[in-house]
Amino acid sequence: MVIVGSGHGGAQAAIALRQAGHAGTIVMLTRDRTPPYERPPLSKDYLAGEKPLERILIRPEAFWAERAIEVRLGTEVVAVDPETRILTTGEGARIGYGTLIWAAGGEARRLGCPGADCGGLHTIRHRHDVDALRGELSAGTRRAVVIGGGYIGLEAAAALRKLGCEVTLIEQQDRLLARVAGAALGSFFRDEHRRQGVDVRLGTEVVEILSAAGRVTGVATGGGEVIAADIVIAGIGITPAVGPLITAGAKGGNGVEVDAFCRTSLRDVYAIGDCAAHPNPYADGSLIRLESVQNANDMGNCAARAILGAPEPYRALPWFWSNQYDLRLQTVGLAQGYDMEVLRGDPKERSFSVVYLRRGQVIALDCVNRTRDYAQGRRLVEARARVAPEALANAELPLKELL
Ligand code: FAD
Repeated sequence: MVIVGSGHGGAQAAIALRQAGHAGTIVMLTRDRTPPYERPPLSKDYLAGEKPLERILIRPEAFWAERAIEVRLGTEVVAVDPETRILTTGEGARIGYGTLIWAAGGEARRLGCPGADCGGLHTIRHRHDVDALRGELSAGTRRAVVIGGGYIGLEAAAALRKLGCEVTLIEQQDRLLARVAGAALGSFFRDEHRRQGVDVRLGTEVVEILSAAGRVTGVATGGGEVIAADIVIAGIGITPAVGPLITAGAKGGNGVEVDAFCRTSLRDVYAIGDCAAHPNPYADGSLIRLESVQNANDMGNCAARAILGAPEPYRALPWFWSNQYDLRLQTVGLAQGYDMEVLRGDPKERSFSVVYLRRGQVIALDCVNRTRDYAQGRRLVEARARVAPEALANAELPLKELL
């Protein structure tokens, strides 16, 4: 059993295989040079310097050897031969597999505009990305420009404010979180970040990165403005890491396609996590990629079951969280395709939820500092409940009573 990738998906697949009694070899090959660790803290408390590496490890370092799971760090898989079942690593080593689980996640997209190859430009995907960024911060860089108003950009902006940086956040769309949430949540986070001193620029495009002596000095916008910067962080999405599998003939493009049991079109090759385009019941069965810890873990479990002969189709309820300042956002379901947003509670009180409906059915909730709504709303999403918007809007009425 060979697993490529040691993120949430790969680690969970290994754990699930052992827990289910698989006694054979498990080898995890990973480009990472750090034992399996969590990525969410990278843009939150690890960036803010509030959590050390030991506290973001998925399991204590000794765990893997104790369970006879061999983790080969610093090993990149560059080719897959599905006929001979042999993987080739960047160093030319050849490793055979019986079953392969591809859990390679994705790489942060880089800026494509002129000047985007100078020093001081960062992305946040790996631990070493954040270590490099923090190294520059402690050397006295103060003016940060964050490009991208999705979760990673917003979390990075919050962490940088905590570290005392001046922060400008640039978003091309006219609202924050446009890809994943509705207008109410985007406006709330815009106002919060501005209140915390972040200069939030919406509808603003970056056209060039300016530099001197090889280091960034500023960001030029489409409106002709130059925003001075000592560092720039791009949080503009990921490209799924599926090159070797696609070259080997696996079906896919934006991710490798899998069926409801995480099987790719290649024999005995499974794919899970950020890189896997899977049929999701909460997206009406259409093929989507989800970038969340929930999805990586649950697909890891799903693949392990299928491999060990107890298959169950993937139908886990999507959930997600984000921490910014003292705000805890919890999301359940997928808001894609919603045709109505219902607000529960008052955003000014910094504790409220947004319920998303499609054709009268509850499909998702975003809950800010409102864990009870999140816990109770899950059941509404699972049941695709039909609830009158007026009832959902009544913040005094517990959601569990609406099922
Ligand atoms: P990854 O965790 O990306 O792991 C991929 C692994 O594959 C890595 O070990 C990599 O080194 C390895 N790899 C890649 N290519 C190769 C190769 N060719 N050969 C060998 N190894 C390879 N999700 C949430 O639910 N909540 C959050 O708050 C949240 N915050 C996030 C913050 C940040 C900064 C980031 C980056 C992500 C965040 N996410 C969050 C998303 C979540 O971390 C991912 O969805 C999750 O890590 C996906 O797990 P994965 O195993 O699919 O991929």
